[in-house]
Amino acid sequence: MAEVQAGWFQCLFCQCLVHESVSRDHICAVQYGQSWIGGPPTTAHMSGTPRINYLVTRGDDPAEGQPGWRWCTACSSLFFPRKAPTPCPARARVVGMMQGVPRPILEFDAHVADGAHYVVRWQDSPQGGQPGWRHCRHCTSLFFVRESGEQGICVGGGSHDATGSGNYAIQVDSPRPSRPLLRR
Ligand SMILES: [Zn+2]
Ligand SMILES: [Zn+2]
Ligand SMILES: [Zn+2]
Repeated sequence: MAEVQAGWFQCLFCQCLVHESVSRDHICAVQYGQSWIGGPPTTAHMSGTPRINYLVTRGDDPAEGQPGWRWCTACSSLFFPRKAPTPCPARARVVGMMQGVPRPILEFDAHVADGAHYVVRWQDSPQGGQPGWRHCRHCTSLFFVRESGEQGICVGGGSHDATGSGNYAIQVDSPRPSRPLLRR
């Protein structure tokens, strides 16, 4: 029996699958679509009401889905490591200022993997789950595509990019009370 981890939810803003155990400001990519007048915005991931709780399988067993996924301890998303950059919304660096507008030019350091390994189910797998999850080619995080086609906000303020993604499904557990991530 595969080990499943509870405590995952979908962020209303970035539509990523994020884990509740990371708790600090500046972690959701939604902040990069907002005004920076008066300083950088501080936006944490936000769950819906009621919060849908998801389960993700741990380990490397290909019978459970696609292995190789990791959890980012900075932005709390599930992401797929690669050699090319994996820009993390929680790891922005200001490298200059834009001409004429009070917005910084940002670069992003890579997601930070912890030691845990995760397997993400394929959408057509017999194990089932909520369909509509995709991998973002830009930030490499797992995100949900809404029925409206909305894909959620990616690092830098644009939308996630599902180009080349597999189709994934995530196991739904139970609703929980809605709340933003608490500070540690
Ligand atoms: Zn978010
Ligand atoms: Zn990250
Ligand atoms: Zn993205």
